[in-house]
Amino acid sequence: MLENWMAELQARIEGEVTRSTDLLTEVSEDFGHIVTKTPRFVVRPRSTRDVAETVRFAVERGLSVSTRATGHSESGQSLSDGGILLDMRTLTPDLHVDPEAGWFEASAGVLWRDVLTALRPHRLIPPVLTNNMNTTVGGTCSTAGLGVASFRYGTQADQCLAVEVVTGTGDIVWCTPEENAELFYHVLCGVGQFGIITRLRHRLRPCRPMARTYYLLYDDLGRLMEDLVDLMGADRVDYIEAWASPAPQGFRTVQGRRQPFALWLYPLHVTVEFDPERPPDDGAYLAGLHFYRHVHTEDQSVYDFALRVEPLFALWRQIGYWDNAHPWMEIILPWATAQTYVETVLRDLPPVFLGGGHVLIWPSRGRISKMPMFRVPDSDWVLGFGILPGIPKAALPGALDLIRRLSHLALQMGATHYLSGWVPYDKDQWRRHFGDAWPRVCALKRKYDPHGILNPGWIPYDG
Ligand SMILES: Cc1cc2nc3c(=O)[nH]c(=O)nc-3n(C[C@H](O)[C@H](O)[C@H](O)COP(=O)(O)OP(=O)(O)OC[C@H]3O[C@@H](n4cnc5c(N)ncnc54)[C@H](O)[C@@H]3O)c2cc1C
Repeated sequence: MLENWMAELQARIEGEVTRSTDLLTEVSEDFGHIVTKTPRFVVRPRSTRDVAETVRFAVERGLSVSTRATGHSESGQSLSDGGILLDMRTLTPDLHVDPEAGWFEASAGVLWRDVLTALRPHRLIPPVLTNNMNTTVGGTCSTAGLGVASFRYGTQADQCLAVEVVTGTGDIVWCTPEENAELFYHVLCGVGQFGIITRLRHRLRPCRPMARTYYLLYDDLGRLMEDLVDLMGADRVDYIEAWASPAPQGFRTVQGRRQPFALWLYPLHVTVEFDPERPPDDGAYLAGLHFYRHVHTEDQSVYDFALRVEPLFALWRQIGYWDNAHPWMEIILPWATAQTYVETVLRDLPPVFLGGGHVLIWPSRGRISKMPMFRVPDSDWVLGFGILPGIPKAALPGALDLIRRLSHLALQMGATHYLSGWVPYDKDQWRRHFGDAWPRVCALKRKYDPHGILNPGWIPYDG
């Protein structure tokens, strides 16, 4: 029967229907390497029509359809358990920049790296770029897309001017904030639950050619947070990036066990764009900040700045960290509880979480995003906090248990999870994640995916 189904669908689409062993293996895991699910077969669509035809076929046969782009999420969001897996990377790449109108339009499988390359001649840049340029425009806008300029502009999804969507019934719908607005506002950040984005139009802004980054170091989280509000509130700089960095202090006894511990320091990178003929006034930018040391200043082109994290990813691949399991806990805390939470967690973070990984601190305005599916605490300012370990498989059960406990504490302190990471929500926590919007989310799921076939098995909807 499987062969018949595959042949039938193959006759209806231009792209490829396949069960190649290598591809099935590749798409049975994501970057998390925690969840394994194998699809019945994979569809590699060429066009929006192929995607729509695949969805219609799935409805006729009672199969599910999961959408996968480059698979950089960590909870199995883009995997399929016995259904059809749509590999969005194979949509015919189509990227058009309109410099006068200030937008680009692209098919969903286009990589952000290619968008950046196309923009170099135009002195234009997407208002928000994530750290990872090997993700697709459809994949990040389906999740949100957060970056070091989000405090000013919100998410990448907020920059979308229009999206072409295939719904759970196989209808092709062009959506803008005015036309089919309900679908527009829910497919963006909708983690593939209400429709499949096949094409999008995305805002650009003019940029200056150069970026100067001040590498500042803080030894006190509270002081860092005060300065962050100062920097963000006055829009003093263009980009803000921070993290927590351990200075090992030897061993001490924690719950009866000798354990290494660290003094945590907080690097802060603030970056301003500039024209080479008018370099920034360093004194003015740094005035009134309470850092412990000004470590370094770096100038580079604004496009190279966008690629600044690439050497870290290359290192992760080289040392094997990339292939480990990644139960990345990415949460967004209300400002009022953020310092207590971060300091409490870092105080006793076990060593397995310190090696190789990264502890991110991501400050933002709390109400800058207009995307209803991107859930953040109701707070003027919010602090993203990401513990991003690479765990050898043998140590995974203990790590997952710890993340569950840290997640539980975070939720009690008013946090939400960023949905690309490891999300250990139970049903009640999913409800709380969406808050007042939960009944609407369930109703829209029934409306746009009435057969419940799009990316099933993750969010436990009502009825
Ligand atoms: C090293 C690394 C660095 C990262 N840095 C950042 C960062 O700085 N900021 C940030 O915000 N995130 C970051 N992420 C997370 C990453 O941006 C998200 O996981 C993003 O969703 C990945 O995009 P993708 O193209 O790989 O999509 P996938 O992981 O394949 O898919 C993600 C989700 O979107 C759905 N989906 C994919 N394409 C479509 C589509 N066309 N239509 C509808 N649904 C779709 C999938 O079903 C899935 O639910 C990082 C991840 C890694 C591994």
